[in-house]
Amino acid sequence: MSGLGDGRLILIVEDNAKNLKLARDVLQFHGFQTVEATDGETGIDLARTHHPDLILMDIALPGIDGLAATQQLKAEQPTSDIPIVALTASVMRSDRARLEEAGFAGIIAKPIDVLRFSEQVLAYCTGVGEAS
Ligand code: MN
Repeated sequence: MSGLGDGRLILIVEDNAKNLKLARDVLQFHGFQTVEATDGETGIDLARTHHPDLILMDIALPGIDGLAATQQLKAEQPTSDIPIVALTASVMRSDRARLEEAGFAGIIAKPIDVLRFSEQVLAYCTGVGEAS
């Protein structure tokens, strides 16, 4: 694996097909590997089985939402150490506090900025945090 991502595995949980494809294409182009889910339950299952380096989590999802899925993953030993970043269009201050409380490492706003996305993701992978 070459490129910025250096083969790191990213789990993308996103129910919008276009958003999912864009995130996947940008990450794979930059040398990340991806696994993908379009609902919260499947996202939780994939996090348990693949133990990705990072999870990108949409908030509004069918079934269990991204907030509840994150709380669940953060409460379990094998997945609690995986950084989870919210992929959301709502980045108001109140939302930010609510997301941090749920265990999110940060937020990447949708629509994603394709020129910066891979570096934002890498920063969260390496624990540097928000690249904004
Ligand atoms: Mn959604």
